[in-house]
Amino acid sequence: MDKPGVPPQVSPLAAGLGCRCPRCGQGKLFESFLTVADRCEVCGCDLQEANSGDGPAVFLIFLLGGLVVPLMLLLDAWLGLPLWGHALVGGVFILGGALALLRPLKATVVALHYRNKVSDRDARKGV
Ligand SMILES: [Zn+2]
Repeated sequence: MDKPGVPPQVSPLAAGLGCRCPRCGQGKLFESFLTVADRCEVCGCDLQEANSGDGPAVFLIFLLGGLVVPLMLLLDAWLGLPLWGHALVGGVFILGGALALLRPLKATVVALHYRNKVSDRDARKGV
């Protein structure tokens, strides 16, 4: 049961996968493809407080790199793909994976920052 004046808890994973506000789970998190909105249009939450910057891109590089390298080695062993085949398959996999996963991954990291009260503003202040 929700307490009066306290917003309901939203799962960081649910907010992230839906690219929604980490506090209310209703408002849009992004104002463009990867730009986090200043405030939630529903609850007024300061979304810049939990902005994750470029951090999720690093996670995605490690994830996609860890998947693509073994995939390319297996394709080479099974099919003997020429170099242009590796470039084509790897390029499509990396570009498609990055475009598909970057938004929900960034939204999930923003939601985790919000949940755990992590903010770049503290670092800038020297706290
Ligand atoms: Zn909200």
